[in-house]
Amino acid sequence: MSGGDMAKPLLGHQSMESDPSMPAARRTIGVLGSGDFARSLAIRLVCSGFKVVVGSRNPKRKASLFPSAAEVTFQAEAVKKTDIIFVAVFREHYSTLCDLADVLAGKILVDVSNNTEINHHKESNAEYLASLFPACTVVKGFNVVSAWTLQSGARDGNKQVLICSNNQEAKRTVAEIAQVMGFTPVDMGCMSSACEIENIPLRLLPAWKIPIFLALGLFLCFFTYNLIRQVIHPYIREQKNKLYKIPIEVVNTTLPCVAYVMLSLVYLPGVLAACLQLYYGTKYRRFPDWLDQWLQHRKQIGLLSFFCAALHAVYSFCLPLRRSHRYQLIEMAVKQALEKKMNIWVEEEVWRMEIYISVGIIALGLLSLLAITSLPSIANSLNWREFSFIQSTLGFIALVISTLHTLTYGWSRAFDENQYKFYLPPTYTLTLLVPCTVILAKVIFCLPCIQQRLLRIRRGWEKGRYVKFVLPSTTGEYSSGETSSNV
Ligand code: NAP
Repeated sequence: MSGGDMAKPLLGHQSMESDPSMPAARRTIGVLGSGDFARSLAIRLVCSGFKVVVGSRNPKRKASLFPSAAEVTFQAEAVKKTDIIFVAVFREHYSTLCDLADVLAGKILVDVSNNTEINHHKESNAEYLASLFPACTVVKGFNVVSAWTLQSGARDGNKQVLICSNNQEAKRTVAEIAQVMGFTPVDMGCMSSACEIENIPLRLLPAWKIPIFLALGLFLCFFTYNLIRQVIHPYIREQKNKLYKIPIEVVNTTLPCVAYVMLSLVYLPGVLAACLQLYYGTKYRRFPDWLDQWLQHRKQIGLLSFFCAALHAVYSFCLPLRRSHRYQLIEMAVKQALEKKMNIWVEEEVWRMEIYISVGIIALGLLSLLAITSLPSIANSLNWREFSFIQSTLGFIALVISTLHTLTYGWSRAFDENQYKFYLPPTYTLTLLVPCTVILAKVIFCLPCIQQRLLRIRRGWEKGRYVKFVLPSTTGEYSSGETSSNV
């Protein structure tokens, strides 16, 4: 699997941290407001070596909340002492700062505000602030960082600070401050990006929506199927109440189905993409949107597959703890004693179970490795070859081993007519469909004639494309002509 999307940073804009010649600013920074964000910001700034002056409507009451190194004074006083002011005030209260317009003129205002709804206002908060203070330079930034992250010093994964402004110099100054504070400034361009930046903290798992719905959809389908086979069928046919199976047994037969099919769905779009490239004979033709989307969600689909597999492992461990299981064991023992059966060892069953559990553990181990290496911090420490070996080669091996796990679970059930409840085949036979298609396609792609063609396409070769070439003439001058690259 190509893991380009897995390796890329959280936000794909230009990072501003790469200029080592940038001197660390040790200037006075102003903060307007004395709330949670202002307090955390002041603490972080002080810890990073800046002088901080806080502007409050009630400095006497609020001073004790700030570190002693920070000066807490009236808003107008604070503004006079600095050229860079963080406006840690809600948008609704911006207009109350208009009295400060004269002292604020010519200064940099950093808008850190967020909204309560996506696209709440027609114009972004930063643009609104800029319209109220036309003599100031407004920079949008720090809104994606929580007050807690500010206090804890950016030690967690969320280190990026998105910055935008129409003024390059002001943007660079704020980026420099962010860098000294231990954050990674990311240049998001001009002020028109402010709206997008303000929406980011409000989005709930945007990349996860489709994979989660997919996992829920599969879970629902397999759960219903297993419910019919394990609970409804015995009730209708034999009047047996097997409802107790729902919380653990039915769920535990559903989870591996979801995990296994989801894992194959990580590799299926790659197969489809390869088929399209072979069909069109080029890699330069855009994939359909749905395939593009699918390719971009492989990481999340893979992680959800791992989540279901891990839950399946925990549920399986707990199976012997159930009282129903103990009753069944005792019942079997009593039955055997009454029938005077001494040896109940079935060699084939023993081997099946040993292999089944062993390959299951290996598959889960490989899935854990895939999940860990898809974390940005780990992925960034791997080179491209290592990353693609783990995600592509080991991932495919995980799919093959999961297939063995499924086959050893099913064993000969597919050929036993008692397993066809209401003519429905055993669940595991259904789960095999997509993964086996993917494995078969991968095997076909390994055939030399197809592999070579795919490799050439991926290196830029195109079917029927005429390539302009340039040849040196005998006189030393160059002449040009055309040839077909696929000849
Ligand atoms: P907060 O605790 O309610 O503080 C807001 C501050 O605004 C007050 O302490 C107050 O300080 C000041 N203020 C100035 N004029 C005001 C007025 N007319 N009425 C009421 N208060 C006024 O809010 P916050 O959590 O610090 O958030 C401040 C800004 O940071 C918001 O725009 C928010 O979207 C943004 N932000 C917050 C977080 C976070 O984690 N909290 C994260 C990202 C962005 P004085 O009384 O001293 O004047």
